[in-house]
Amino acid sequence: MASWQAHFISLLLRTTFKPRLAKALEAADARRLLESGAAHKVPDDLDVQPGEVAGIPGEWVVQHGSAPRANLLHLHGGGYFACSARTHRPYTCFFAAQGFRVFAPNYRLAPEHPFPAAIDDAQHVYLSLVRSLGGAQALVVTGDSAGGGLTLALMQRLREAQQPLPAAIALFSPWTDLATTGPSAIENEASCSMFVSEAIRRGAAGYLGGADALHPHASPLYADMRGLPPMLVHAAEREAMRDDSTRLVERARAAGVDVHFKLWPIVHHDWQMFQPFIPEARESLTMASAFLRAHVAQAAVATAAAAEAPAPHVARNAAPDVEVCIVGSGFSGLGMAIRLERAGIGSFCVLEQHGEIGGTWRDNTYPGCTCDIPSHLYSLSFAPKTDWSRMYPTQPEIRAYLHDCVARFDLAKRIRLNTRLEHAAYDEASGLWTVQTSGGSFSARFVVSAIGGLHRPAIPALPGIESFAGPSFHSARWDHTLDLKGKHVAVIGTGASAIQFVPQIAAQVAQLDLYQRTAPWVLPKLDRAIGPREQWALRHVPLYRTLWRWRLYWRQEMLAFGFAVKPQLLDRAKKMGLRLLRKQVPSEELRAQLTPSYQPGCKRILISNDYFPTLTQPHVKLVTAGIREVRPHSVLTDDGVERRADVIIYGTGFQATNTLGPLRVTGRGGVRLDEAWRGGMHAYYGTTVPGFPNFFMISGPNTGLGHNSVIFMFEAQIGYVLDCIATMRQRGLRTLEVRAHVEADHNEALQHRLRRTVWATGCRSWYLDANGRNVTLWPGFTFDYWRRMRRIDWRAYRTQAGPV
Ligand SMILES: Cc1cc2nc3c(=O)[nH]c(=O)nc-3n(C[C@H](O)[C@H](O)[C@H](O)COP(=O)(O)OP(=O)(O)OC[C@H]3O[C@@H](n4cnc5c(N)ncnc54)[C@H](O)[C@@H]3O)c2cc1C
Repeated sequence: MASWQAHFISLLLRTTFKPRLAKALEAADARRLLESGAAHKVPDDLDVQPGEVAGIPGEWVVQHGSAPRANLLHLHGGGYFACSARTHRPYTCFFAAQGFRVFAPNYRLAPEHPFPAAIDDAQHVYLSLVRSLGGAQALVVTGDSAGGGLTLALMQRLREAQQPLPAAIALFSPWTDLATTGPSAIENEASCSMFVSEAIRRGAAGYLGGADALHPHASPLYADMRGLPPMLVHAAEREAMRDDSTRLVERARAAGVDVHFKLWPIVHHDWQMFQPFIPEARESLTMASAFLRAHVAQAAVATAAAAEAPAPHVARNAAPDVEVCIVGSGFSGLGMAIRLERAGIGSFCVLEQHGEIGGTWRDNTYPGCTCDIPSHLYSLSFAPKTDWSRMYPTQPEIRAYLHDCVARFDLAKRIRLNTRLEHAAYDEASGLWTVQTSGGSFSARFVVSAIGGLHRPAIPALPGIESFAGPSFHSARWDHTLDLKGKHVAVIGTGASAIQFVPQIAAQVAQLDLYQRTAPWVLPKLDRAIGPREQWALRHVPLYRTLWRWRLYWRQEMLAFGFAVKPQLLDRAKKMGLRLLRKQVPSEELRAQLTPSYQPGCKRILISNDYFPTLTQPHVKLVTAGIREVRPHSVLTDDGVERRADVIIYGTGFQATNTLGPLRVTGRGGVRLDEAWRGGMHAYYGTTVPGFPNFFMISGPNTGLGHNSVIFMFEAQIGYVLDCIATMRQRGLRTLEVRAHVEADHNEALQHRLRRTVWATGCRSWYLDANGRNVTLWPGFTFDYWRRMRRIDWRAYRTQAGPV
């Protein structure tokens, strides 16, 4: 017999919650509904702390004053599109009270982050916990509803990658079949207190984002169950997802997995969420705790013998696992890898946190994404491509070029995909770096950070932004599953990306409102196709190819005169920009709104031939009033006008002034790089930092450009790093570290020069940090930077002899 409390809450859910969920067609509505009333009272003896594991935020829950018996990772439910560690405190608090040290991550949610983002996050968190615990034997994983499916998907991932599995797992009403093929979806539709099958299908489609519902990581019911850890499964007899559990148990048992299963009467889907009210919920969680604890104890006994082996000791002159660890596989990381490979320094690896190489040009897939530097200049000089199809390369062509570089230089064997650097720590005794990644730890003599500067999207802190009910995304996370046809679309921002995608989407949408804070300077784009004859000559006549590149280089470089020497010289650019406006925008009023009020170059100058004409179309509105508030279905501006918005697209750029972002780098004496950079980032020629021996950066502070190809700058830095490594090997030097006073003098001189440039003429740009310091751009000619980086000034460095 079920308790009256279980009856009562099931009835309440069936009459109030279920009909509202069935009608919530938009993810945001369903999200609000699922998250409403999530106010679990934390018992006094527990401590809930916000925290981060592997850069993923979440909550730690522990009991005061008692040593935890084991560690528990809880993956919350919510259909992959809703809920958080906070909403799921009924689980985490219960387990903490049972003696577990609990972490619940806020993994990324769909539809903004569809499959497999949640699994990626869960895996990163899990592996980081394993590392910090020194193994998986004292770790268990639990999950409810979608979190149960996610737990199983995580197990598949770990087993496939031969990574350590936890001591046991516990699943509560797990959602294991996104294809919704179980008979209970129909049979129990009426009796289920929470779902109609249509709502389940809708949730699945939102998470899958076009992926196959039968993919074993999306629907782990269809996965190979062999070798999974012992599992406890609790489900409800009359819930629509009952057969997600019954079939799972059947298949897991057939595959030889140790399964403890119980089907509970009356109670509803995920009833343990109501543990303060329903006795069955507490009973279920108590059973699960006992099961998990028993398996942790067994695992501990099983691994005790292995633990008696002597602890690894890094000897003073130990050889590293790899000589060089490069972090990042964009232009700079791949460029570094090619040069190391060609120099015969074969012991290196490239870490890439995602499943594909390419950096910027993998992430930015928005319509019309192109580069504003000519193709033959925006490529590596030591990996030339002669058949660029246009003067300015498009994103797919650059992406293909980078893949081609990997194949041409046989780099695939060096690249570790899906491997995120989590912590690089310098060990003074051995002179080596301990590199902790999401895929395990190793030692390296040199670490080269090539993580780029523009990879963390900036979303403005607009009032009410979280209340928006429709889909919204940043241009660097374009949602290709969303059909913009006939929609009212609000685009926020008029930077380099927005001016490229606005003309592309304008033709599809019913209404496009473009919210502009500052008008950009836009110049004509001298783009054209490169014909077969030119391509032939570029391939077969090396001198022609060299001259072509030089011509492009000097055309761009001339701009540096205006940017860094005499801003008044940019008057010509100003005239060109105004002429383009006059030619393409007949309306005087619109022209006035599109005319910038600052010096060209102070913010990045943009190039486009179709941006202005797009803004003259009747269904496109340039809005210059400030945004007062984002509402669920509209945007309200300071002039009191409210405009409908079905979709919001943020073309608001990147967080560029702290490029390392969440990367953890600990140097000599335990000093962390983020602490050393608390007052703003700085480095010696953007490449080396005092206190961080044998650590290099490519595209570090003050190496960006406003006028020419950054690839030229990358190549100068790559050559410098290679020279450091090669010379150290020749001279028998073990470590190299820039002297603090040299680096400080260098930066003072740099900031002094920057004060006279166009970037200091008063506009607000992403080149400046919170203190108004320009920490992103090189203040001069690129050939000057190249000249300074051509030879190492060894007086700037402290070195230490020793075997290399
Ligand atoms: C939309 C857009 C347009 C641009 N257009 C231009 C242009 O027209 N002209 C121009 O000169 N520049 C342009 N840029 C700048 C562009 O970023 C650089 O030109 C260049 O591509 C940067 O290359 P990178 O290798 O340094 O960094 P990225 O391309 O950002 O690559 C860094 C790589 O490091 C990986 N990574 C990061 N952290 C970790 C970690 N912890 N562990 C493992 N891997 C990690 C990332 O996943 C990524 O693959 C543009 C940038 C953007 C975003």
